Amino acid sequence: MLAMQWTGAGQPLVAAQVPLPEPEDYAVRVQVLACGVCRTDLHIVDGDLPPRPPGLVPGHEIVGRVVARGALATRFPLGTRVGIPWLGGACGHCAYCDGHRENLCDTPVFTGYDRDGGFAEFAVADERFCFALPDAYDDVHAAPLLCAGLIGYRAYRLSGVTGRMRLGLYGFGAAAHIMCQIAVSQGQDVYAFVRAGDLQSQRFALQLGACWAGSSESRPPHELDAALIFAPVGALVPAALRATRKGGVVVCAGIHMSDIPSFPYALLWGERTVRSVANLTREDGEAFFACIARHPVHTHVQTYPLVQANEALAALRRGAIDGAAVLVPG
Ligand SMILES: [Zn+2]
Ligand SMILES: [Zn+2]
Repeated sequence: MLAMQWTGAGQPLVAAQVPLPEPEDYAVRVQVLACGVCRTDLHIVDGDLPPRPPGLVPGHEIVGRVVARGALATRFPLGTRVGIPWLGGACGHCAYCDGHRENLCDTPVFTGYDRDGGFAEFAVADERFCFALPDAYDDVHAAPLLCAGLIGYRAYRLSGVTGRMRLGLYGFGAAAHIMCQIAVSQGQDVYAFVRAGDLQSQRFALQLGACWAGSSESRPPHELDAALIFAPVGALVPAALRATRKGGVVVCAGIHMSDIPSFPYALLWGERTVRSVANLTREDGEAFFACIARHPVHTHVQTYPLVQANEALAALRRGAIDGAAVLVPG
């Protein structure tokens, strides 16, 4: 099969012919129908995260059709369309797994990082960590739900916003464009913060229902109740705190961020909270899919053929994608 392999930090992915992966035990082999490109893929490719051995295939927003099953795999019949997310496995017995926090498992298996992912024609995944996908979303529009949607939703839930509150979204990429739609449909006022001068992203946010859009350095017209930071920029933490009311929450939703500059304690004072969100649990996935069954979202996608994975990553790095980049076979 064709796979786009990582060969070293900062190097482009290389197209290679590799053997079909064999599904063992609870694993299924899927034919990849679409795979989203996430900022975490960019951090892996660029070497921002601890490196894995060369030959790794990134990609953890996989929509695939089950074409083979391991001896113990019975959950999905052959031919079923499934979604494969970032959390590809957890030990099931560490203190975190025991405490319903498998997202923090001490020995996790991450798709497209610890196990080859979806930048390939086929992939294997543990069926116990896959999701059934709603029919309402075709392959390319379902792909961004699997990380931008799932982990964005975990960040959204942990921000504590309910009812008519003011939610700030910093970095208006794949995750924010989904969370904006959910928050607006749940009655919240969304304030979108984008790179200075990025008028296209401002327009995109307003089209999706944000009540205000502006530069991330600017102060919104009203104090925020909570802010989600999706951009990997540490300087946004004090900026978001400055825009957030007493008692408000600032959630850092990315896996990697540049250093956070020091800031006056006054920005944190008043029982403001800064927290991170790491990975996802399967329960987050169930809650997210239940949520979008009530509040459908429209994912905006820009598709690239699999062999143009490097072009998709470059466009993401430049901030040139409205919504999400998705790789498709061919
Ligand atoms: Zn564990
Ligand atoms: Zn991701």
